[in-house]
Order: sequence, then C-alpha cells, then structure tokens
Amino acid sequence: MSVSRVLVANRGEIAVRIIKACQSLGIETVAAVSEADRESLAAKLASRSVCIGPPRSSDSYLRTATLVAAAQATGCDALHPGYGFLSERAELAQACADNKLTFVGPSVENITVMGDKLQARQIASSSGVPTVPGSDHARTPEEAAQLAENVGYPILLKASAGGGGRGIKLVSNAAEMEMTFKTAAAEAQAAFGNNTLYMERYVGDARHIEVQILGDHFGKVVHLGERDCSLQRRHQKIIEEAPAYALAADVRAKICDAAATLARSIGYRNAGTIEFIYDNETQEFFFLEMNTRIQVEHPVTEMITGVDLVAQQLLIAGGQPLSLEQSDVTFTGHAIECRINAESPQHGFRPCPGRISNWQAPDGAGVRVDSHCYSDYFVPPYYDSLLAKLIVHGADRAHAIDKTRQALASFHVAGIDTGIPFLQTVIDDQDYQSGHVNTRWLEKKLEEYSQVQG
Ligand code: ADP
Ligand code: ADP
Ligand code: MG
Repeated sequence: MSVSRVLVANRGEIAVRIIKACQSLGIETVAAVSEADRESLAAKLASRSVCIGPPRSSDSYLRTATLVAAAQATGCDALHPGYGFLSERAELAQACADNKLTFVGPSVENITVMGDKLQARQIASSSGVPTVPGSDHARTPEEAAQLAENVGYPILLKASAGGGGRGIKLVSNAAEMEMTFKTAAAEAQAAFGNNTLYMERYVGDARHIEVQILGDHFGKVVHLGERDCSLQRRHQKIIEEAPAYALAADVRAKICDAAATLARSIGYRNAGTIEFIYDNETQEFFFLEMNTRIQVEHPVTEMITGVDLVAQQLLIAGGQPLSLEQSDVTFTGHAIECRINAESPQHGFRPCPGRISNWQAPDGAGVRVDSHCYSDYFVPPYYDSLLAKLIVHGADRAHAIDKTRQALASFHVAGIDTGIPFLQTVIDDQDYQSGHVNTRWLEKKLEEYSQVQG
C-alpha cells in the first residue's frame, strides 16, 4: 500500500519541504494552491498543481471537502497536511479514510485524543508522565478561584482546544481571576468553538523542551531526542536548538523515555512531538501537550540525527515498518534554527507582506535554508509570515552560534522587512551565548530592542 502520488495540502516552506521529500522517494506530488499561490515555488516544483479556491485560507487551505476532492480529481492516493491549517483536525484524517486516501499523519484516534489538551493531560498522568500541578476542573470563575488557592498563584488558564500559542492566560492573583476567567472562556469559545478551560501552575523560570517521536503501524515507537524551544514571543517559538544543551544527561534520558512511553501507550503512529515545560530551579519536567504532526522546527533534529523526518512520515504512512531501532538513533553536534518572518522589528514587528526585490540566502557546509521565497516573489498578506528557516549545524553549540551569526550576516532580503536584524542581536547576546535563558527571556530582550529602536 505504498504511497505513489501525494496531494500537498499546505503552502509556504513546508509545501516545498514535502515536495522535496517526495521527490527523494520517487513519489509524485500535486500542490494544492489558493489563487494567491498559483505562482508559488511549490506550484513550480510539484509534478502539477491544482487550484483549491480564493486566497483566504477559510476559502481554500481550511476546506476539507475541497482538498479531498482535489486529491481525487488529480489521482492522488495520499494527502500530506504539513503543519498548521488542518493538520491537527481529526475531521481531515477521517475524510481521507472515508475516501480511500492515505493521510500522512497519525490515526484519527491519535489526533482526537491528543487534540484535546485536557484529555491529553489526563492520559499523560495515567501513563506515569508528570503533568504540571494544576486542576482539570475550572468550570466557573468561583470554582477556578477556589482551586487556584491550592495550586498557588500565579497560574495559567488554558483552553483545552487551544494551540499555536493562543488560548493561554496568566492569572497573577485571586483579584484577577474573575475577569480573566470570563475573557479566557469567551475567547476560547470564539476561537476554537469550545470554552473548556483547565489550570496549570505557572512555572516562572522555565524552558520549553520537546521530544520528537516516530511510530509505525506495528506498535514500534522510537524517539529522536529532544529540542530546546525556549526562545518565544507570545508563546510562539523564534529560535530552536537540538540537543537541549541545558539538561543534565540523566534528565535528558528520562524526558525522552517519558515521551516514548506516552506515545507507545496510545499506539501512536507517524511523526509527533511531545512538549514539556522544564523548571530551571528544580530540574523537574512536566508534560504540556502533544502535537500530532510534523513541526516547524523538525530540521534541527534532522541535522543532528541525519534522519529525514518527512521521508519517514511518507514511508510509515505507506505501511512500511520503521527501519530504525532506538540504538540506531545517534546524535552528532549541535543545530540551531532561526525563523525568519516577514515583519518589521523596527516597527513593533508589524507584518510586512509585499514584493521581495532581492533574495539571497546563505549556503555552505552545515547551512540549510528551508524556504519558498525567491527574488521577485510577492509575499501575500493572507497567511503566516514565515519566509524561511535558517538551520545550521556545528560541532558544538559555540560553533553553531558562530555559524548562525555568519549566515545571518550573509542573508540579504530587499523589498520587505524581515526579523533578521533582531535575530542578530539575539545571537550576539551574552546571556544567549552562555545559555542563561528561559521562556520569558526573549520578551525582555525584545523590550530592550524596541526601546533602542525608539
Ligand atoms: P507549536 O509552536 O504549537 O508547536 P509550530 O511552531 O510547530 O507550533 O507551528 C504551527 C504554527 O505554524 C501554526 O500555529 C500556524 O500559525 C503556523 N503555520 C501554519 N501553516 C503555516 C505555513 N504554511 N507556513 C508557515 N507557518 C504556518
Ligand atoms: P500551545 O498549544 O499554544 O502550543 P502549550 O501548552 O504548548 O500551548 O504552551 C505554549 C507555551 O506557553 C510553552 O512553550 C511555554 O512557553 C508556555 N507555557 C505553557 N504552560 C506553561 C506553564 N505551566 N508554566 C510556564 N509556561 C508555560
Ligand atoms: Mg505547544
């Protein structure tokens, strides 16, 4: 039942990434493109393309029935959802199954169970994986206030259906609870169609650590090590690294084992990521959530393991047993990824779509750029602002930092603003270089930066 023609149900750099992985395996591709993406690099590189509707993603990339029909009309036997958009909707995986299309991702059940963050938390806890002290019940502001007394402030209110950094609210003290609870519930209802909230203790000095998993149809699960994604702006990752350099060897082994155990316990298949929050003070780690898809930052893992994760996704989806044993997975050197967005760091990071008059990306040994951009490409205003991911691999972290600095200096984009100048100040920072960071560090750095920019 191997895969022979894949509908690429996404856009941007990940569409290009999927097409390249398919090409390496001799699989044909059909790029599903909105009217705004007809001239995209994905459309040019794919075996063919098919228009799935108007520019707005709600009229194109978010339409399950249209995507399935496009796959059928173009003779595809599989669909790759990428990340974002419909990638974590059980409904798309189900529609594929109903129409004899192979969904390049986990089972409908895997997605359903882990897509509900509260349920995922309960499953982690019953598999013996530590979860953040908190409460599963927070049905009214009064109940939440009562429970928070035991948990201890500050706490986070989280939307069970949330994701992408949205649906998380900090409550610093009891006086704030009522208002914040009401706002959080109303926003969750509007954004995700579900107002269920739960509560976690806010870990103030924390790192975001996550573990890459691969599982096949035969119950085999291996982990590919962990990543540190602590540098975030509004809960969105900006710079990611592998391995997670700050962890002691025994903690690293425990966190990877915990992730593999959890994935095994739900019969997880295909690529997935289990996210943890790590307390810098106590060295404890706690389960946050599982992302049932390929992740934006997957290349840092590829750089240090030499495993092509998207190719693995396609092979697994095609029914092949995982050829990797846990002992085959070895780690070499250090990798860093910088997300380069179309935004203006000099103007409060406002989005910056428009025509790229000149695009010159760095290259060389250990330097990889995943991107859909080129000179004269028009960045449409309708979508996520990610233009490129710069990924470098060095013998160790210091070497990788040095290489990132050089690569950023030779990355030239004209016509629109990008986040490159801000990334440069981060890479040059002493705290960053010595690794004295936590999940709040980047926001502080950003404030300083904005003040200097005036
Ligand atoms: P998380 O931080 O929750 O793990 P990731 O950083 O891995 O999520 O990326 C998922 C996010 O990527 C989505 O929330 C969405 O905003 C964004 N996204 C979705 N599709 C695309 C795309 N084609 N190009 C760039 N970004 C995208
Ligand atoms: P999302 O589904 O939006 O990705 P997560 O639950 O994965 O939400 O959390 C996103 C980010 O929010 C984390 O990477 C971390 O920086 C921060 N965060 C989440 N939970 C906690 C917590 N309990 N304490 C401190 N920070 C947290
Ligand atoms: Mg997350």
